[in-house]
Amino acid sequence: MHASEATAYYFKRASKHLGMSERLEKILIMPKREVKVEIHVELDNGELVSFTGFRVQHDNSRGPMKGGLRYHPEVDPDEVNSLASLMTWKTAVVNVPYGGAKGGISCNPSALSHSELQRLTRAFVDEIHDVIGPTLDVPAPDMGTNAQTMAWIVDQYSKYHGWTPAVVTGKPVEIGGSKGRDAATGRGILFAIQAYMQDEGKALSDLTFVIQGFGNVGSWAALLIHQAGGKVIAISDLTGAIHNPKGLDIEALQRHAKETGGIVGFAGAESMDAAKLLTLECDVLVPAALGNVLTKENAADVKAKYIVEGANGPTSPEADELFIKQGKHVIPDIFANAGGVVVSYFEWVQNIQQFRWSEERVNAELRTIMMEAYQDIKALAKSNKCDMRTGAFLLAISRVAQAAAVRGLENDSFCMIKPTA
Ligand code: NAD
Repeated sequence: MHASEATAYYFKRASKHLGMSERLEKILIMPKREVKVEIHVELDNGELVSFTGFRVQHDNSRGPMKGGLRYHPEVDPDEVNSLASLMTWKTAVVNVPYGGAKGGISCNPSALSHSELQRLTRAFVDEIHDVIGPTLDVPAPDMGTNAQTMAWIVDQYSKYHGWTPAVVTGKPVEIGGSKGRDAATGRGILFAIQAYMQDEGKALSDLTFVIQGFGNVGSWAALLIHQAGGKVIAISDLTGAIHNPKGLDIEALQRHAKETGGIVGFAGAESMDAAKLLTLECDVLVPAALGNVLTKENAADVKAKYIVEGANGPTSPEADELFIKQGKHVIPDIFANAGGVVVSYFEWVQNIQQFRWSEERVNAELRTIMMEAYQDIKALAKSNKCDMRTGAFLLAISRVAQAAAVRGLENDSFCMIKPTA
């Protein structure tokens, strides 16, 4: 199943609860704008090369569109479409005043030099600067892009529009990046787990965790869960997987990964078959690497009772339906990994106000937003007798539809979209 089909499946599962017509479904699913541009760049050897770049702007009913920009050889328009709509639902779930977007350039960033990447980024901004901006669409780093890419975008965009750090988030702190942004997605995952486990009457110290991925999301989630008393017993990354039933020392593992480029060979653990990581005996499984890793092929073997989606779209609809049937608890991506976009929102707010927040303030405000979103989702899941993902989609769809309605999208049926909480 394609990524966009999975998003549409979850959307439709929720829209059934709302009794939404097919016509309204279509309006909410289709992106508002898809921009495709040809970018011509001179390589260091003088050769002129063309790349295709694009930006999918899904919805702006609740505010400027927001979403990552990825540089990857196989930037798949289907996946980007799906991720753009996921951003619309994610920003609505956590109630930050944004819509959703996603974009990218089809290129292999590791094959390009620093100056070639800079020229490529600036040329891309030349093509799209009139459709992005602090009140229109605010890109952020994603696969293959980073704070440096965002700094080039600020610089190039500012040549057209004056000094505008709020055009992107995920910038270096020197030009308006926010404290706490690096850890934000992992910290949001911790807050989501804490909120859920409080209702389950469980302390983190009673639980074992398995985490797939040790990049930005996985390593911060692992560290913060570990520091909060949770026992992280296994982790995988591209280099392999490691296991210690007594719990991994995450600070030491981070040092090892930094020195060696991966987690394998870590002295405080045994290596294990990475293919078996997702089905290892544990309480909480956190897929935090790739999409579509829990599928109909392996879902029946998953032992964890709780699945916390750190990655975007890690669970296929078939696996999700099975987990619901089995009474497993899935904390869905559009809530669990929303910490990053929440702190991106704080970055944008700080830029617009030309004011800096302390890291303590960033973390405290993030906690408040995650806890409020959790309570909102829980109330809807309870009143609609549905799983948490459907509850999150119900919340998101109703918020987006109501914003569209009050803004004057002339159809009364939008106003009817109000689930009972
Ligand atoms: P990253 O590139 O920093 O890290 C990815 C990690 O996954 C790396 O440790 C890599 O080695 C590992 N990995 C890759 N293939 C793997 C495999 N086959 N098996 C096990 N591990 C594998 O990426 P990230 O920023 O941590 O993002 C991870 C996921 O979270 C993605 O789905 C991303 O879309 C999503 N996400 C990220 C953020 C954010 O703020 N970074 C926010 C929301 C969602």
